[in-house]
Amino acid sequence: MTEEVKKDEPAAQPAKPAETAEAPKAPPTPPPKKEKPEKCEQCGKQLSRIKWYYRNNGYYCTKRCWREYRSKREEERKAAAAAEAKA
Ligand SMILES: [Zn+2]
Repeated sequence: MTEEVKKDEPAAQPAKPAETAEAPKAPPTPPPKKEKPEKCEQCGKQLSRIKWYYRNNGYYCTKRCWREYRSKREEERKAAAAAEAKA
């Protein structure tokens, strides 16, 4: 039975005191996070605090609104694809 203590410190690099490295104190930047909007992205109705529908990075008041929004996006995508095919 061998007791090997492994250290992660590299032997070639002596530990320097962090006095010379004066890093400016920058506030930590949080990753971009989508916050819950106050209104439904489809109909613009005010979202209820308790009841709302979240799907695909979007907030909607009801599942129906999400479906409407989705079909709208789908139509836009199809129109764009058709326009691209024509060109
Ligand atoms: Zn809605």
